[in-house]
Amino acid sequence: MDQNSPYAGSSIILTTKHSKSIAIAPAFLNVLSAKIIECVIDTDQLGTFSGEIERAGNAVDCAKMKCELGLRLQDSHYGLSSEGSFGPHPYIPFLPCDNEILYFIDRKRGFTLYLSHLSENTNYNMQFVSSMEELQQFSEKALFPSHALIVRPTSKEKNQLFKGVNTADRLEAAFRESMKLSENGKVWVETDMRADMNPSRMMVIQELAEMLAKRLSVLCPLCQSPGWGKVDIEKGLECSGCGIATELIKSEIYGCTKCDYKEESPPANRPLKADPANCSYCNP
Ligand SMILES: [Zn+2]
Ligand SMILES: [Zn+2]
Repeated sequence: MDQNSPYAGSSIILTTKHSKSIAIAPAFLNVLSAKIIECVIDTDQLGTFSGEIERAGNAVDCAKMKCELGLRLQDSHYGLSSEGSFGPHPYIPFLPCDNEILYFIDRKRGFTLYLSHLSENTNYNMQFVSSMEELQQFSEKALFPSHALIVRPTSKEKNQLFKGVNTADRLEAAFRESMKLSENGKVWVETDMRADMNPSRMMVIQELAEMLAKRLSVLCPLCQSPGWGKVDIEKGLECSGCGIATELIKSEIYGCTKCDYKEESPPANRPLKADPANCSYCNP
């Protein structure tokens, strides 16, 4: 533990409904000597994964709203919230991904900082099934029963659904009930992505919590605000053959959460010039 941490001994309010402190608290204690206190509110009113309530705004807006809500309810300088979204990888089609955001507010120093983490470590999946055998095949792929499922009569049915299904008996009952209500002889099944129902997601949140805690332990060289770190990259590393700027990263930009001070440095282990193989002129 680091007693010189800018947050040593302080309490950070985590607004959550799904017991995410299990994934977040260890990193904040070990790296920052700070305690996480859960503020349990019905964050489902801000949007649920299973679609009963549509999420308003993008994931960052949603995380910010949650974080501010927790700080309004609890009197503290520091707030934290998490938000996940799931879908195909931005560059690799059909590869499911979990994109997690952790949003931090420091009201004492007057800054906010959020980090995101895109991980392929997810069971995110959904489909129609027409038999128990088909459902069992899906459930194996979906890491059931350690990971829960959601079952319902159709993909859009918002009222009749079975959430948090995590035993074989409940899965069969949910299938039978949904089949009765189904109009096309098929039942919709999807992975339950709530953090407390999904250990893979909990793991990704834990990785992100470590990244954020480490980031908050680094101070700005100019104003000493916590959260100094990489804020941007600059492409355009010159080709060693012809000198033209390539698409490769030339430098990383480090910045402060509070003041405008920035530093530029070449990325670690990066050659000084680009290989002509990456050059659009030398290797068209
Ligand atoms: Zn600064
Ligand atoms: Zn070149």
